Amino acid sequence: MYFEELLKSIGDKPIRVYLDMDGTIVHYDVGVAEDFDTKRPLMNRVNCVKNIMNKMKNVSFYILSIGHEDRHITQKNQWLDEYLPEIPKENRIIIVRQLHGQLSSADIKKNYINNLNTKDQIVLVDDDPRILGALNKENKNNALIYKDSVLSD
Ligand SMILES: [Mg+2]
Repeated sequence: MYFEELLKSIGDKPIRVYLDMDGTIVHYDVGVAEDFDTKRPLMNRVNCVKNIMNKMKNVSFYILSIGHEDRHITQKNQWLDEYLPEIPKENRIIIVRQLHGQLSSADIKKNYINNLNTKDQIVLVDDDPRILGALNKENKNNALIYKDSVLSD
């Protein structure tokens, strides 16, 4: 398992992995931003996460996801309750962004990661190059930044 080996190479220190949902652990059709509770799970990736949870006690998993409406937060939590209940509610960071708000999703996630006050090693896994690029450009916590495909094979 590639991601497990990669996390092991960081060492024994505490690691926080922040996982995106849409396109990372959930199948997402472009333009279908609704019914998040019934979207298809990418099971090889979900199982990769579960496997690492069981094996590596220094690794904590978080969700870092954005929705446009309050009901999307409920739907995403329902999805997590069904497919990844091992991630506790307090580790699920699901932020509502108004469609025409000031900040882009990339800035919201970048700011969230940069404002974390922790000595733990932060790891972000996301499929959106705008998010990965924004954090790569301004990365105050020296987060390790990975594309979603790091979870496969
Ligand atoms: Mg995504």
